[in-house]
Amino acid sequence: MKILCVLYDDPTDGMPNSYALDSLPKIEKYADGMSLPTPNDIDFTPGELLGCVSGELGLRKFLEEAGHTLVVTSNKDGDNSEADKELVDADVVISQPFWPYYLTREKMQKAKNLKIAITAGIGSDHVDLQAAMDHNIDVVEVTFCNSISVSEHIVMMILSMVRDYHTQHAIAKSGGWNIADAVKRSYDVEGMHIGTVAAGRIGLAALRRMKPFEVNLHYFDRHRLSAEVEKELNLTFHETVESMVAVCDVVTINCPLHPETENLFDAQMISKMKKGAYIINTARGKICNREAIAEALESGQLSGYAGDVWFPQPAPNDHIWRTMPNHGMTPHTSGTSLSAQARYAAGTREILECFFDKKPIRSEYLIVQGGELAGTGAHSYSKGSATSGSEEASKYKK
Ligand code: NDP
Repeated sequence: MKILCVLYDDPTDGMPNSYALDSLPKIEKYADGMSLPTPNDIDFTPGELLGCVSGELGLRKFLEEAGHTLVVTSNKDGDNSEADKELVDADVVISQPFWPYYLTREKMQKAKNLKIAITAGIGSDHVDLQAAMDHNIDVVEVTFCNSISVSEHIVMMILSMVRDYHTQHAIAKSGGWNIADAVKRSYDVEGMHIGTVAAGRIGLAALRRMKPFEVNLHYFDRHRLSAEVEKELNLTFHETVESMVAVCDVVTINCPLHPETENLFDAQMISKMKKGAYIINTARGKICNREAIAEALESGQLSGYAGDVWFPQPAPNDHIWRTMPNHGMTPHTSGTSLSAQARYAAGTREILECFFDKKPIRSEYLIVQGGELAGTGAHSYSKGSATSGSEEASKYKK
């Protein structure tokens, strides 16, 4: 079989010869008891770069020894991309949300052999899920592999935005010492109201991690958490997003992107937020309206916006979120720490082993199967597509 793997570019100065840490801490289980990926074997060293082209998700030896062909490229956008050329006769496509290969209906129509699209990570909105259902292409992702990684990033961003770390760090780096400049937008999070849109694996982990800061925790989700968890975290549940954002100083967004959540934070929703609130969005860029966010930062309706997700990706060089005031954006990195890479590379291998051996793939990993939303997909997504507009990614220039 032919496996097409679309990964982000190598480091500009080549693959590292050594790493900051010699090994990764051992994680026994995820918080809900789910086991970490269980491939029969791995051919990589956990803690090394695996998500870039030369890292190959550690898959080449395994695939070639089994007689398969592996093609790895980062060239994915614009007309006649390498990925588009290779997709035509590929059986399997692997892509990562950080450097998403937007698998649109048009591309699927040309990919006559394509049977499965694997997301090496979480969040399969870069695949037109409705078209995948219509073309009987299965879609799977490595559920939970980087949920904790993202929740750590959220805590970092809440603290850094509210305390205004970025300004202070810039002053220190530039040789300055004006304390008043450094603190004129700096607050404590203690006592604030913090709310999450969605309390799934990431949302709940973010709430748990914020609890020791002695804040008031809120959430909105389509399904309510157990009374036990609500009590443990002293949570306030809201029936609507609007009710929650009206009282929160910080809103963190943790739902998948699907037609129900696309453009959820538009000008109208932002106008219902408490004045001067912060948004932390590590879910997907398209959940927030690009212009409305920038305008709210300009007017002061929002005090800050941070996250690591953009639309499309890579973000065009002139994307307004690169230059708007009081933002704390990173490129899409929260779920691709070296720790997370080891888990999603192993999870991708587990999925491939099941696929080749015709064994069932864990239901937690399923998004679309047999033409329908399935497993986690049936729980967390809705039918339809949220991939339109991704062509703009070709405007990014290195
Ligand atoms: P989960 O499936 O565990 O959680 C998703 C939650 O979103 C579920 O609780 C689901 O609710 C809820 N949800 C779905 N639709 C809505 C809606 N319309 N309104 C409110 N809540 C909704 O996934 P994770 O927590 O692991 O990941 C969530 C998302 O975060 C991913 O889909 C991905 O987009 C993003 N992500 C980003 C990463 C990054 O690197 N920045 C890495 C990993 C994930 P219910 O099931 O109750 O319907």
